[in-house]
Amino acid sequence: MSEQHAPEEHLFRPAAPVRMGANLSAQEIEQARAWFADNPEGFWEQAAKELQWNEPWHTVCDDGDPPTWFAGAKCNIVHNCLDRHVHSANRNKLALVWESEAGETRKWTYFELSREVNRLAAGLRRLGFQAGSVFVLCLPPLPETVALSLAIAKIGAVQSHVFVGYAAKVLRARIAALQAECVVCADGFARNGSVVGLKEIVDTALDSPEGDSVELTIVVPRLGIKQSLRTDRDLAYDDVLHPVHGNEPTTALDSDHILFVQYTSGTTGTPKGVVHTHGGYMVALNRTMNWVLDIKATDILWCQADLGWITGQSYALWGPLLAGSTTMLYEGHPLYPKADRIWRIVEKAGVSILYTTPTLMRMVKRYGPGFPAQHDLSALRLLAAVGEPLAPEVWLWWHEHIGQGQCPLLNTWWQTETGAIVISPLPANTLKPGSVGRPLPGIQAAVVDPEGTPVPANTTGHLVLYGSWPGFFNGLFREHDQSFAGYWSPSQKTYWTGDLARQDADGHLWILGRQDEVLNIAGHILGATEIENGLLVHPGVHEVAVVPVPDKIRGQAAKAYVVLKEPHQAGDALKTALTELVRQELGPVVRIKDIVFVETLPKTGSGKILRRALRDSPPA
Ligand code: ATP
Ligand code: MG
Repeated sequence: MSEQHAPEEHLFRPAAPVRMGANLSAQEIEQARAWFADNPEGFWEQAAKELQWNEPWHTVCDDGDPPTWFAGAKCNIVHNCLDRHVHSANRNKLALVWESEAGETRKWTYFELSREVNRLAAGLRRLGFQAGSVFVLCLPPLPETVALSLAIAKIGAVQSHVFVGYAAKVLRARIAALQAECVVCADGFARNGSVVGLKEIVDTALDSPEGDSVELTIVVPRLGIKQSLRTDRDLAYDDVLHPVHGNEPTTALDSDHILFVQYTSGTTGTPKGVVHTHGGYMVALNRTMNWVLDIKATDILWCQADLGWITGQSYALWGPLLAGSTTMLYEGHPLYPKADRIWRIVEKAGVSILYTTPTLMRMVKRYGPGFPAQHDLSALRLLAAVGEPLAPEVWLWWHEHIGQGQCPLLNTWWQTETGAIVISPLPANTLKPGSVGRPLPGIQAAVVDPEGTPVPANTTGHLVLYGSWPGFFNGLFREHDQSFAGYWSPSQKTYWTGDLARQDADGHLWILGRQDEVLNIAGHILGATEIENGLLVHPGVHEVAVVPVPDKIRGQAAKAYVVLKEPHQAGDALKTALTELVRQELGPVVRIKDIVFVETLPKTGSGKILRRALRDSPPA
């Protein structure tokens, strides 16, 4: 079996300014671990005290199924994201900077955002919405989107952002599953140079029995297509705004009151509607803003995920506002009209933290170092990625060409269900390209066999998380009874993540892919990612997906779908070279039985490679 050790030359020790300036020094990281081991509840209670509460908790964590954090407490995340900043030195600081694909920009301070949220919340209340009302939001990342999210949460209503790239069919299914009373959309938006008629998609979704629960549609006039409003159902955004003198009250809610329902990416099956709550979620998220993303008062954070995914929710919306920092919202495609668009935005806005995905990182690498080199990227001080395995080759390229060898590049691991980052290196840590580092202080993880027994170091097993922490999800929406089936074992207090991993002797974790993407080649268990990383070492390989195929002798063999980079040509010579490369990288056991060159790979809406599509219905 192959071993993934970072060779000594691939250890990246943080530069002195990073080490000295990190919110948590290397020594403090170890102290935090020891503190958590000694007093887990005290550890999280301290994290909760960094935020403001209307009423205190009587129990830090009760032992229910699911567990409740900060029981007895009253709070509202909006008080912490907005109200408290307006009464602090952050009042006139930028809360958000927005840019459209066409290059328009808008900026709102915390005060301006708060004024808008107050008027919206008052308007929503007048329309009869209240704590428990359910909203579906299908909106590009606009300043109004942020205001609507905050206003909905301010009155205690539930929200679910649906990815704007979905067709009416998916939207209809979400509306029906959530029994939404109100859908909020924009009339349209531009992406990749084309106009997407969002309102038409919403109308198609609603003009069916599944849309019956919806009483009202609120339309943000992004493109000015006002004539399409329907008098029986639609209200323009401006008509919701209601004048307010001073502060519209923020509803004090139970700590476990639902904040949002976030659907998973659907990589392994039907997406699941994951519930996060006001109290626990804000505590865990705030911690990661401070400790992982190392947020400072001067930062501008650009998290590139759509608000329809948990990454966008946590790190483009709630997280930066909790931290009182500035979130960069970009409405278009980051490589449009040219591959340097992303760097133009970084340069113009002075983005200091960039949180991105391996898919985009591979695309940027494919276009070469010329594009970033044309721009002043000196404001960037921290890079982070999430969503898929980040191949060491891609890590090294980004570290050199984007991070100038100086910025920590954090490969963060988490899920919709975990709410916030749970496994990641911290900026003051030594980095190993390809590894996701160690569990954060406050999180317990292990690599175990199918019975739940921890396996020795450097052995492949299932990644599990133990116990609970404040960001842990509160089940699946309206499916309370089966919420934890297949996920959470109350007797073992173990959460099964569904990912395969290996832990090296230093305790660093290496994600090897999903447990249902495993290959068993002559008794050797390998994650698809391991073989893919081997193939990505070849300079001609842009993207690759490996799936198992039956093999008479070895039980299973690997089949690779490869997307090439120009000017590399498909052909038998390249197939032989790639097969040989995998043999060198992973040993003779790992035989690639077949290599198919393809133009693109199937992806989820969030841009993850969809191996199950290749496995279940291979392209002809
Ligand atoms: P579904 O649960 O519907 O199948 P999904 O698991 O892709 O979809 P998300 O919650 O968006 O939905 O993604 C979480 C998963 O993403 C993790 O379980 C893991 O497989 C993958 N992932 C996230 N971060 C990383 C990372 N840094 N390295 C490797 N894989 C990662
Ligand atoms: Mg998942």
